[in-house]
Amino acid sequence: MKPNGKTYFKNLKCRECNRLYPKEALHVCEFDFGPLEAAYDYEAIRKDLTHSALESRPYSMWRYRELLPIDGEPTVGTQVGFTPLVRADRLAERLGVRELWVKNDSVNYPTLSFKDRVVSVALSRARELGFEVVACASTGNLANSVAANAAAAGLTSYVLIPCDLEQGKVLASLVYGTQVIGIKGAYDLVNRLCSEIAGKYGWGFVNVNLRPYYAEGSKTLGFEILEQLGWRIPQHTVVCMASGSLLTKIHKAYKEASLIGLVKETPFVIHGAQATGCAPISSAFKRGTDIIKPVSQPNTIAKSLAIGTPADGYYAIHTMRNTGGSCEDCSDDEIIEGIQLLAECEGIFSETAGGVTVACTKKLIENGSIPRDESIAICITGNGLKTQEAILGKCGEPRIISPSLREFDDRIGRELQRTPHLST
Ligand SMILES: *Cc1c(COP(=O)(O)O)cnc(C)c1O
Ligand SMILES: [Zn+2]
Repeated sequence: MKPNGKTYFKNLKCRECNRLYPKEALHVCEFDFGPLEAAYDYEAIRKDLTHSALESRPYSMWRYRELLPIDGEPTVGTQVGFTPLVRADRLAERLGVRELWVKNDSVNYPTLSFKDRVVSVALSRARELGFEVVACASTGNLANSVAANAAAAGLTSYVLIPCDLEQGKVLASLVYGTQVIGIKGAYDLVNRLCSEIAGKYGWGFVNVNLRPYYAEGSKTLGFEILEQLGWRIPQHTVVCMASGSLLTKIHKAYKEASLIGLVKETPFVIHGAQATGCAPISSAFKRGTDIIKPVSQPNTIAKSLAIGTPADGYYAIHTMRNTGGSCEDCSDDEIIEGIQLLAECEGIFSETAGGVTVACTKKLIENGSIPRDESIAICITGNGLKTQEAILGKCGEPRIISPSLREFDDRIGRELQRTPHLST
């Protein structure tokens, strides 16, 4: 899929001072500690990544291969991506808006969250760089994806998580035979430990020393939204935030697609969403600053978003402000309502992070940050089957009856008579 062995990916580059770095397992600038980011030859990409070139390519995230930071062909996660973009008319009606789309990464292959995108890139690059052991610091979904994709690629993996994650997330790492290390402490402590291990053991940590590669994978979610809308940029995009990386990369995707001529550059706005119980980015945004106060004790059911010191929070704030966007956060009860609203309107069972996105979208509409007659895309990033305990006992119980028609008539049939439109 990479035509004629060309390399479109040129360097790593510091986001602060633009110094160039070689394409190795590096992630911070040694002069100013700015994050390193992939840099490309956009002139060459403009010629090769065209609408007609895309027509013949398989429907996976790798159709945008020229804009991803590897040298050869992808070798890990080649089937990831191209999840449905659902026109959500019933949810739109409930929220009182005209045009609403749900990008449904809760059914991403293979581990049911958008993290398969970032891991696919990070592990393909890890192999090119010669790593034999791969690892991550995770709030759950990243661990699942590293475990599964490393297993399929025959790589040894270690995943480090806070020890109090949801059972579904822990089990969905263990099953792949990965080494799961539960840390007695919040995510920030897990992450700090991982930096130390990376230095000492020389492992490829997808979101530490391989972070520039990992982060670029998130752009594909943005490219897909544009393509699935018929090459159009939605006027508003709502993204839930943990480190804030996904939000900044959706912005980068829209910009790159405009730059290389895949889409006409039209105004767009990016909004962020967090859980109030761990809202370092949202609270800085609301205070009108870009200085983030760490949250040392996250307290929310949205555990996948519970990062107290968000690595890309500063850039996420600037992305929201520069596009004219806004930021909201929501309580645990609102998260549960958001999960239920999406499920009842669209038949999509999201994890807690998606509940955050829906609940905050509702607030952004109600407070006028999103005008009701403009196009909106919201990102649903993980699957509800992995966070079942969050809604356990909140959706009612099945009614248990004997296998008897008489009992059915008595208990259920009678209700139908009271609501005539349901009886046959
Ligand atoms: C990791 C994650 C996010 C956010 O990721 P960042 O890029 O760190 O902001 C959103 N939703 C889910 C379900 C996640 O697992
Ligand atoms: Zn620098």
